[in-house]
Amino acid sequence: MKKYLFLVVLLFAAVCSAAEKPKYLFLFIGDGMSVPQRMIGEEFARTRGETLVMNHMPFSAATRTSSASSLVTDSAAAATAIACGVKTHNGKLGVDTGGKKIESMAEVAKKNGYKVGIITSVNLNHATPGGFFAHRKSRGEGYNIGLDMVNSNFDFFAGGDLFGRNDKKNPNYKGDIMELARKNGYKVVCGADGLKSLTAADKKAVMHSKSGRITAALDGGDPGADLHDMVAKGIELLEGPNGFFMMVEGGAIDWAGHANDAAENLHELLAFDKAIRVAVKFAEKHPAETLIVVTGDHETGGMTMGFAGSGYNLWVDRLANQKVTIGKFAHILKEANKDRKLSFEEVKPLLTEYFGFRFEGKSPMTLKAKEIQYLEKEYAKGKLPAAVRRTISGKAGVGWTSGAHTALPVLTTASGCGAENFSGFIDNTDIAKKFKALMTPVETKGFWEKIISF
Ligand SMILES: [Zn+2]
Repeated sequence: MKKYLFLVVLLFAAVCSAAEKPKYLFLFIGDGMSVPQRMIGEEFARTRGETLVMNHMPFSAATRTSSASSLVTDSAAAATAIACGVKTHNGKLGVDTGGKKIESMAEVAKKNGYKVGIITSVNLNHATPGGFFAHRKSRGEGYNIGLDMVNSNFDFFAGGDLFGRNDKKNPNYKGDIMELARKNGYKVVCGADGLKSLTAADKKAVMHSKSGRITAALDGGDPGADLHDMVAKGIELLEGPNGFFMMVEGGAIDWAGHANDAAENLHELLAFDKAIRVAVKFAEKHPAETLIVVTGDHETGGMTMGFAGSGYNLWVDRLANQKVTIGKFAHILKEANKDRKLSFEEVKPLLTEYFGFRFEGKSPMTLKAKEIQYLEKEYAKGKLPAAVRRTISGKAGVGWTSGAHTALPVLTTASGCGAENFSGFIDNTDIAKKFKALMTPVETKGFWEKIISF
């Protein structure tokens, strides 16, 4: 705790003067991460004597997330706003409402000599990473977004495998996207061993995991190829005299929000904070040259800290009882029922093992009679995983008002060189504008010098 406090002071002291530009820029985007997600993570960490590094940066800004179509944005319009600086319709990626291509901050970085890295815990051609290199009318154009990715000439990509990467029905089909990446000079590797094998001698590289996402942190993650491993490798590959821009997305925070899985949401958030910590460690070595900005693209799930029925209480530590994601539990339950349908009595030990639910005694995780009846009824209907999800959220005092996104503002926090740009009340498009300005060289020639050189 003290150590991080010291680090924050160090970063605060390291803010560069207004004329100086950061050489190393990190933008961390928690998909579906607003204040409730960040604060549930914070309170959970505090029960263990820790805090989240993302919440303890010297500058912060409440950030409006609306899109051109709605106060409630989707991830494509949000990525376009954050990466390119324009509001567009939900679903559009890297283009304005009229379909015109808008340059992203990553493209500005590349143009100005920075190396560029794009990292995510979900598909590399998903909306958020896509906003930094793709220009398409629809986020659903997986193959075309993949084409934009391998034609971007960016230096490093790491994340989940691409959806639709070998879509032979696409009119633009030229081969599997990863084959095209190789043709364009990328070294393409898969998983932890692949990531480990990359060196600075590999000029351009793509690392993708076997599936469309890194295994959920709560289900054990992908050791050696988790988000923090990718950030560490990205730094190793991109560090150099011209500096770098790196975008890192915690993409599955959103997925857990859509699923209203509180423990999965929490563990994805903690994994995201661990990745930010790698950047903070790097900033310790380059304090006057590094900028770290952490934001969210929107809130997902209408997550609340307390709800009607929880009174003046919140018990986030109870989420520690959940040992697997609801998705994995559904799979475990299906396997257990493979040969014959288990009785509810036979399912009870699974509920104790994976969620800490007790059926007798007086522990905080002991279920009330009506909760047991509810689970039994839902089990009979084949809906136990959803019922368990609601029950454990209730036990923790975590509420959900939606399975979709909400218009809640997000929090942007920043430390290091240029961090003072991210304070007060800002719009998501301001993030692109500030980053673009910070990565564009200052015109040093005076009026007459320009005339003479012209
Ligand atoms: Zn979403």
